[in-house]
Amino acid sequence: MSHARLESLVPTPASFPLFRASVFQPKRHLSGQAYAHYEKVLRGEAKLDTPLADLIADALKEWALSQGATHYTHWFQPLTGISAEKHDAFLSWTAEGDAIERFRGKDLLCGEPDASSFPSGGLRATHQARGYTAWDPASAPFLWTEGEGVTLCIPALFFSWKGEALDHKIPLLRSDEKINQAGLRLLKLCGISATRVFSTLGPEQEYFAIDRKWYEKRADLVLVGRTVYGAKPAKGQELEDHYFGTVKARILSYMRDFEKAALQLGIPVKTRHNEVAPSQYEVAPLFEHSSLSVDHNLLLMELMRQKAVKHGLVCLLHEKPFAGINGSGKHNNWSLATDTGLNLLDPKEESLSFLILLAAVLRAVHEHAELLRASIGSAGNDYRLGGSEAPPTILSVYLGEALEQIVQRLIQKKTPDQEILRMIDLGLKHVPAYAADGSDRNRTSFFAFTGNKFEFRAVGASAHSALPVTTLNAIVADSLHLILDEIAGAKGDRGDLSRAALPLVRKHLRAASAVIFEGDGYSAAWEKEAARRKLPNIRKSVHAFPAFLEKKSLRAFEGILNREEIASRVETLTEQYVKTMNIEVNLMIELFRTQILPAALEDQKNRGKPLNEVQRKALQQLASSIANAITSTAVLEKAQKQTQDLGWEAKGKVFADLICPKMETLRRDVDLLETLVDHRLWPLPKYTEMLFST
Ligand code: ADP
Ligand code: MG
Repeated sequence: MSHARLESLVPTPASFPLFRASVFQPKRHLSGQAYAHYEKVLRGEAKLDTPLADLIADALKEWALSQGATHYTHWFQPLTGISAEKHDAFLSWTAEGDAIERFRGKDLLCGEPDASSFPSGGLRATHQARGYTAWDPASAPFLWTEGEGVTLCIPALFFSWKGEALDHKIPLLRSDEKINQAGLRLLKLCGISATRVFSTLGPEQEYFAIDRKWYEKRADLVLVGRTVYGAKPAKGQELEDHYFGTVKARILSYMRDFEKAALQLGIPVKTRHNEVAPSQYEVAPLFEHSSLSVDHNLLLMELMRQKAVKHGLVCLLHEKPFAGINGSGKHNNWSLATDTGLNLLDPKEESLSFLILLAAVLRAVHEHAELLRASIGSAGNDYRLGGSEAPPTILSVYLGEALEQIVQRLIQKKTPDQEILRMIDLGLKHVPAYAADGSDRNRTSFFAFTGNKFEFRAVGASAHSALPVTTLNAIVADSLHLILDEIAGAKGDRGDLSRAALPLVRKHLRAASAVIFEGDGYSAAWEKEAARRKLPNIRKSVHAFPAFLEKKSLRAFEGILNREEIASRVETLTEQYVKTMNIEVNLMIELFRTQILPAALEDQKNRGKPLNEVQRKALQQLASSIANAITSTAVLEKAQKQTQDLGWEAKGKVFADLICPKMETLRRDVDLLETLVDHRLWPLPKYTEMLFST
């Protein structure tokens, strides 16, 4: 993973001076000799010793101070799913007692935040609270500006004193190493030369931006990022007048603001547009090496939140802030690339290696469907998956018409194998069809092939991409090794490669063919068909998390996460799920009792005595709706209390299976009240106000 590679993936033309202005550029900021040594470190040919670390630290300090920085921090990614930092000033004493600015190699290399409060899923007892951070030399330090403050951030890995990964970054890097080994093996077999294979990621980020004044009046948006109540507005997204519409001036100036800051941090933001739901938008970067892209996505989300304030807006990154309209995803476009510039999932590159890799991906997705579902699981994403316009919880793969045809021919042995290879070589190059229809029809698919990459659409908008990408890398590397072992066995020392490989490719494609689905993933018919095909359909994430601990998952994660590290993730994910649901229940009860019920009762009182039968009926409807909501609140509260003494796993199940339906019932009751109660009395901003006023 060398910088030279990253550099050429995302070239920095001299005509784009803004780009990376806030990123430390070793080539520019280090002396020639120090840079040469640093490059060797990146290539794994030399160690990052103290003299070099001191040189880099000096250059970093000089650069950071010249840009107005006062503090530095190790910037790391604990299992909370967001980044963490603890600032230190560049301040120290000399022997004579004078204050000086100091930053040494050892400050650059490692940190020791008191990390007892980060989730570790049992990996680190509080009495051994020390977590350590270490600079990842492949990730360049950068300057982060917040208000007046400028901080030098050093991207770091976070681990326990025993060396267990406490973060999302270490497993991602390890999974990339595993994909490197498997990928190089594939290339060697096919006679393609390269020295490194790595995963690439281009995350399309969806989000809502609404006026801050509404947000501040809604405790649910402030505390959990989604509206726990809110009746369907008279107009939703049915007119489809927002998608790709003109971006309004205020939103555009907000977008420009965070895009500019993003470019300065080297985040290659490229595409922006209005999304389907009102007040929903998307930003997409150019793809990069996945570990860099994951860092960049985290920073981008933070910039989007931060820059909204100045524009009187709030950026909502929750998967389903508003019921009844589209939720937000983060489509993880994923592929494998080589240091020589090949995209291994581009059928135009080399047909045989493409087919072998395709078989490995499909086998991986079929074999590990539950695990993939688990890797994108969260309380927030459960509201989105299977909702309007989001991929359902059934894992299916969309291949696009042209590729599907070829795969079917291969499976059914209708066409001679050599012909298939020729079809890929010649055919796919000239088939614009699936590039064109792909984006339209694959909208309903969990995982879609889009011409030269897979788009993992089920990832949620607020997710940390590292876990899904690590999982994909892990299962694909595992499947690839397995298929390559079989091919090596069949081929022997001198056998013909394609003659040995194609029957095995066929075998694996056939075995995995149940996940291939071209039709409408939202339809009820598909749910039935998927059940017939024995595809898992796990609606609630807590039921998917245990898949991480299955034997086949442990095998796929070998060398990436050990059993304890995996168990810690399962525990953390379950804990976060439960805590989120519990806060939502608290909110529902509190908002109802302290804001909604008083308003509804006041309305009831204001209406006075009914003058006729029709009025009496209307009043009766209000009264019984109030009574229903009061009862539903009590039922919900009772169910919540019953979870008190349970462990996380049991709590998770109770929340998913018993409490969720009770939340839905209360919401229905309250949303009905919203349509009955005097608008002037309703205490919460409504969907119409929030969604149509920017
Ligand atoms: P669409 O909305 O039609 O899916 P976009 O242009 O919005 O397309 O997003 C496509 C995303 O896929 C971009 O972020 C792009 O950089 C990314 N991408 C393209 N090629 C690759 C690749 N080889 N590996 C990973 N991501 C890729
Ligand atoms: Mg897009």
